[in-house]
Amino acid sequence: MTREHTPDQVARWRRDLASKGVELNAALTAILAGKNVTLATLKLPQEQTPGERKEERLRRYLDLVSRAQKRLGTPEWGTCVPCDAPIREVVLDDAPWTETCEACC
Ligand SMILES: [Zn+2]
Repeated sequence: MTREHTPDQVARWRRDLASKGVELNAALTAILAGKNVTLATLKLPQEQTPGERKEERLRRYLDLVSRAQKRLGTPEWGTCVPCDAPIREVVLDDAPWTETCEACC
């Protein structure tokens, strides 16, 4: 199923994804340089495994952002990766890298 998004929406998502990528890369670089970085402001996805290290979480998040950048502008954009259901626009506006619907996450 393809839904129409306005060029303005797509441009905003593209910008948000790009700036999040920059932010995450900067945090990852700082961590790898041995700096103490707080992840609290980055809205990281949940830890996948308890005790997952900061750099692992950041790398996972960066992967999520770069996958979203590839989907944006394709028919897959805005649909749940596992089940193909539409992801609500308010969710995409808040976190455009979201790739699962509320039932799947
Ligand atoms: Zn789903």
